[in-house]
Amino acid sequence: MSGKTYDAVVIGSGVIGSSITYELARRGMRTLTIDRNGGAGLGSTSFSSAIVRFTYSTYPGVAMSYEGLRYWENWADHLQLPHGADLAKFRQCGMVTLKTVGGHHLKVVPHFDSIGIPYEDWDLEAFEFHLPELDLHKFGPPKRPDDNEFWKEPSELLEGGLFTPEAGYVSDPQLAADNLYRAASTLGCEFRFKTEVTAITRSDSKVTGVGLGDGSFISTPVVVNAAGPHSRFVNEMAGALDDMSIRTTPLRQEVHHVPTPVELDFENRGFSIADDDNGIYVRPDLGDNVLVGSTEPDCDPLHWVDPDYEGQIDIQQWEAQVLRLNRRLPAVGIPHQRRGIVGVYDVSDDWIPIYDRTCVDGFYVAIGTSGNQFKNAAIAGHCMSELIDAVENGRDHDSDPVSVTGLHTGLTIDMGNFRRSRTINPESSMSVHG
Ligand SMILES: Cc1cc2nc3c(=O)[nH]c(=O)nc-3n(C[C@H](O)[C@H](O)[C@H](O)COP(=O)(O)OP(=O)(O)OC[C@H]3O[C@@H](n4cnc5c(N)ncnc54)[C@H](O)[C@@H]3O)c2cc1C
Repeated sequence: MSGKTYDAVVIGSGVIGSSITYELARRGMRTLTIDRNGGAGLGSTSFSSAIVRFTYSTYPGVAMSYEGLRYWENWADHLQLPHGADLAKFRQCGMVTLKTVGGHHLKVVPHFDSIGIPYEDWDLEAFEFHLPELDLHKFGPPKRPDDNEFWKEPSELLEGGLFTPEAGYVSDPQLAADNLYRAASTLGCEFRFKTEVTAITRSDSKVTGVGLGDGSFISTPVVVNAAGPHSRFVNEMAGALDDMSIRTTPLRQEVHHVPTPVELDFENRGFSIADDDNGIYVRPDLGDNVLVGSTEPDCDPLHWVDPDYEGQIDIQQWEAQVLRLNRRLPAVGIPHQRRGIVGVYDVSDDWIPIYDRTCVDGFYVAIGTSGNQFKNAAIAGHCMSELIDAVENGRDHDSDPVSVTGLHTGLTIDMGNFRRSRTINPESSMSVHG
């Protein structure tokens, strides 16, 4: 075994691992980031719908995502890449959360009010003004097309919606990860692609390094697990599962890409839609497309899979999502071709990420991103680096959790909310709107 020493090794160069790497380097650490894939952001990040929204059901979720927004708004400043670099673009199209009785919007509003996040309360007249093509009938609770109830014509209308004008989406999630990788490289960070971490070594309960697939060994006192859907395997390798009460498990997920008629001009007139009434989330896309994903309604089976799972579009799921979209936005029509992606979420038991240290000294986790942490990649990198810095300098984060102040909003993010040993948060929605 040959040896080389780094201040920290990051496992995974998705959007989360690349961001953590960049932030560690900004704090002066000498890092090596290792990924099995051939480049940055080629894992679950590349499938992301990359919606940036703040409609989380818990205060920390809202605060973190609102601070995260400012990074996307100032992406070029954040990266400090040379002029002319090809950067991912943030498109601020806004997002509406449709109101249902006892729905998600009720959890969100108090947090928006306490933070001061702008929102508009849309009644049906406001929808008529902004996008009259939307059918605001109450279709829910969500059903599958093979259920006769799916086809019944509803008579009741929804209550309206909550519109957040600052929400949006990032044009190319893989490019965003690549941007972070290049920004980190500019600071001297090393990346090793097509390389697998196969072992994490320790002396007593302290990390000493990682073993690689080619038999070599890297010595380091700090290892960060940012392995996305492989997170649980990497935790097992480190022997870090002992006091982890929240588990992470890979979940299959489909997002469909549906062309929209040119006259609808959804790319410019449209906005993202969180539609719990119908079990879908929707966002505009470049080139007159609309993306439609699932909010995991009870009627849709969940498919827990192997982290290396690669699948094809499932006809029944495509029909369910595309037909639900058609009920809400009939102008879209049914496309001839089934287009979309099949990706994998790394889901935690309460769909809230784990950003924490572990019972193995020097071994940290940024995992369980549960289909909703792309938007938080930059702020998560900042928070993880603050946490690692504090713990490596003697802070007992378990008994005295690190709090991070957002550089842009001044909001306080209590990292104790994302700990590995929490009880399942009953406020969590256990699903995502992107
Ligand atoms: C279909 C889909 C839609 C989504 N939509 C949204 C959305 O609209 N908004 C939002 O905020 N979030 C969304 N997300 C979630 C978001 O994309 C993820 O939370 C985020 O991309 C996870 O990034 P990551 O870096 O943790 O994981 P990944 O991108 O999976 O990166 C992990 C990397 O670790 C590497 N790795 C694993 N094990 C090893 C090992 N042993 N050795 C070396 N390398 C290893 C892998 O090769 C991989 O590249 C979505 C996700 C999916 C799948």
